[in-house]
Amino acid sequence: MRSPNKDVKTTNFIRKIINEDLSSGKHVVIKTRFPPEPNGYLHIGHAKSICLNFTTAEDYDGSCNLRFDDTNPTKEDIEYVNSIKNDVKWLGFNWDGEVKFSSTYFDIFYKSAEELISKGLAYVCFLTNDEAREYRGTLKVSGENSPYRDTSIEENLNLFKKMKIGGFKEGECVLRAKIDMSSSFMCMRDPTLYRIRFATHHQTNDEWCIYPMYDFAHCLGDAIEGITHSLCTLEFQDNRRIYDWTLENLDDFNNSDRPHQFEFSRLNLEYATTSKRKLKLLVDNNHVNSWSDPRMPTISGLRRRGYTAASIRDFCERIGVSKVNSLSDITILESSIRDDLNNIAPRSMAVINPIKLVIENYPEGKIQSLKAPVHPQNKEMGTREIFFSREIYIDKEDFLEVAPNNKYKRLAINKEVRLRNAYIIKATRIESDKDNNLQTVYCTYDSDTLGKNPSDGRKVKGVIHYVESSKAISAEFRIYDRLFLDSNPATFDDLSSSINPNSLEIRNGFIEPSLFNASAERAYQFEREGYFCRDSECDELVFNKTVGLKDTWNQ
Ligand code: ATP
Ligand code: MG
Repeated sequence: MRSPNKDVKTTNFIRKIINEDLSSGKHVVIKTRFPPEPNGYLHIGHAKSICLNFTTAEDYDGSCNLRFDDTNPTKEDIEYVNSIKNDVKWLGFNWDGEVKFSSTYFDIFYKSAEELISKGLAYVCFLTNDEAREYRGTLKVSGENSPYRDTSIEENLNLFKKMKIGGFKEGECVLRAKIDMSSSFMCMRDPTLYRIRFATHHQTNDEWCIYPMYDFAHCLGDAIEGITHSLCTLEFQDNRRIYDWTLENLDDFNNSDRPHQFEFSRLNLEYATTSKRKLKLLVDNNHVNSWSDPRMPTISGLRRRGYTAASIRDFCERIGVSKVNSLSDITILESSIRDDLNNIAPRSMAVINPIKLVIENYPEGKIQSLKAPVHPQNKEMGTREIFFSREIYIDKEDFLEVAPNNKYKRLAINKEVRLRNAYIIKATRIESDKDNNLQTVYCTYDSDTLGKNPSDGRKVKGVIHYVESSKAISAEFRIYDRLFLDSNPATFDDLSSSINPNSLEIRNGFIEPSLFNASAERAYQFEREGYFCRDSECDELVFNKTVGLKDTWNQ
């Protein structure tokens, strides 16, 4: 018997259960699974489930399966299968053996359904949807038995066979479990096990026209794969009764080490939705450009925006696992990525709202090459080449004609600032167009201040960033705000009424030349601006803002 691994931290109630199951000898090796339905892209909520399932298995030296819960062909697509595999791998997890599909077990599911029928525990029911709803009763009123409940076993076996070979129309009948129409758990009032769907399935093509329901397929998939702890979200708490009922009534699966279901709270994130159905509506109604739009809380959207896998795993660890549903603070996610990128992101300079600055005492035609650290705290990351000349770009927001007060640390007429990684300059005059729009700022520079303070002891506190004009490369910057105006958009029936109309702002500016070959695989810190990541889906130089340098949301 394997004793609980001493190094495993009992950080949540699931680990407590596992420790007990290992100590009692109920299980020897821990086996979990992540069971997505391939009907959309994975979102941050799935990341919580992925981290929980994979790290639990890993920490106990067990294993975790990736199983597609592909029992609803009308909503599923191979595009989703591929994106899900890719996202799980990108998050840094390895599933055990081959990818699994519930559809591989369709034969076993079918035989299991026949076994239930043979035991008088399932029947084919011809009630219409509306009738079935009436018969089901309510929480206060007990249900009534379906008139088809007492059909003989023999006839039910034949009817079920007929369902399988396409002898009935879609919706004409279903296979139901015979449990208890007066159960206080609505889900136990003869739940549907199989329904008819004449749809081509992405794995089994047209082989089947009957498809099992989640409640029937899931427990069987778990049992077939030898899953020990089947972790799912709280809304399935009542359904645990069907899970247990099904396995307990099937000879092959009613074993002492059969799987058990444990529920944990869903991740809900502020200013986001974690419902695939609603995310699909956002895409279908063009509120965003695609599932991987950087405003989407999907794994692919977060990745395209510059989030790292490590930051998402860190976030999932920070929010923890419990049985209490809550709305997680978006700033926790943002601080996870900020903490990660602060350590690893190469530094560079980009000017997002450019204005020209001319240094009048700098020789015309001269371009100086300077070295700047790639990461000021990590010398091993080396240096990069930046340039300096008579004409540079600075950000409009870094200049005011008249400094508003003594604390103002940016550039103003007759005020000095340091240009990041270069010299101290002093603004002398400006030039505006006929409409009084600022065109150019004129300055002088102190040639004796490259990498050192002025020799006369004067103190220059402000630092602004810049890009040399002749080497500057044009780039587009996409600055994102929350996709929703309300912190809990789930409270709106119609999500579109909470959409933030200004969630994307596009700016055109300049980047330093070292960013010309910027990779979309990593985010960069644009000094004083924030973290940015090159867009992976545009050929041009487009940068998505990942997150600001500081949390300014509540200020
Ligand atoms: P959705 O409502 O987005 O369609 P789902 O639960 O139907 O979600 P699945 O593909 O069936 O989506 O989910 C796969 C696994 O991920 C399930 O075990 C599910 O419980 C878990 N999961 C889904 N959403 C969340 C969430 N917000 N927080 C934690 N786990 C989640
Ligand atoms: Mg589901």
